Amino acid sequence: MVSNKPKMARPSVYQFKLGDFTITNILEGYRHLDNLHPFAGTNADAADVEAIAKECHLPFPNLEHNFVPSLVDTGSQLIALDPGFGEKAQFPTSGWFNNYLPEAGYTLEDVDYVVITHCHPDHIGNLIASGQPTFPNAEIVFGRVEFDYWRKGENIPDFRAPTLSMFKEICQPLEDQARYVEVGEDIVTGVTAVDAFGHSAGHMAYHIESNGQELMIMSDTAAHYAISFRHPEYNFSMDDDPEKAAISRRRVLSQVADTKMAAIGFHMPFPSVGYVDRHGDGFAWVPAAYQFNL
Ligand SMILES: [Zn+2]
Repeated sequence: MVSNKPKMARPSVYQFKLGDFTITNILEGYRHLDNLHPFAGTNADAADVEAIAKECHLPFPNLEHNFVPSLVDTGSQLIALDPGFGEKAQFPTSGWFNNYLPEAGYTLEDVDYVVITHCHPDHIGNLIASGQPTFPNAEIVFGRVEFDYWRKGENIPDFRAPTLSMFKEICQPLEDQARYVEVGEDIVTGVTAVDAFGHSAGHMAYHIESNGQELMIMSDTAAHYAISFRHPEYNFSMDDDPEKAAISRRRVLSQVADTKMAAIGFHMPFPSVGYVDRHGDGFAWVPAAYQFNL
């Protein structure tokens, strides 16, 4: 039967200037879930999570979880951070990064570095396509602590067994050819690894700086734009080390809020760029308006 339902368009590629750099966010996909609690707060009361949702004009318990990789174009180097699930997508509304890349003006061959902030499926799946490297000219960069954690495979939470097997399939074969970074090291000038350990053992954020403009690519430091910001002490169900993740979350959000730099979060609602304000004992996500168009 032919559907006469209109196909709903939604923005899926967003590009802006940061100093001399060009930043691109791509909607790799989204997932609709029906468990805002406990998804975004395993140690929170459902009523408290519902109250924040109401205050933020959000439904409860339904939610949309976005997956948003970023590209940093320095003018001479193109860096892709966490290019998504790719063909490992397990639901139909994801796996779109490679399709949207040309809309941003790039090809898979253009990418010089793929930086993996941490080795969860939505961040590593697209390293391989049809058994071949998805980005044929790219050097793959892992955090040293993160890679070693999954390679050793000790103290992995039970729910991460599928993640460990995906790591073994996709990342471990790259062991000898990949590059490894420690906290404080640059990928290229202006792109620096930041300690955000906890969501996974060696989870990194990346600080971007060009011509006096600053941006924190927070990756999965905070999972839900309302719940995880308002209560950074709420444990996110996908955090591998929830206690450590909560400490890192408060530290990174404090730094971004106090310096007033821009921020990107992998799971923020698309286009996933904005600012962080302090709000009571926690924080608030402030989506960008027209700042980057001027
Ligand atoms: Zn993620």
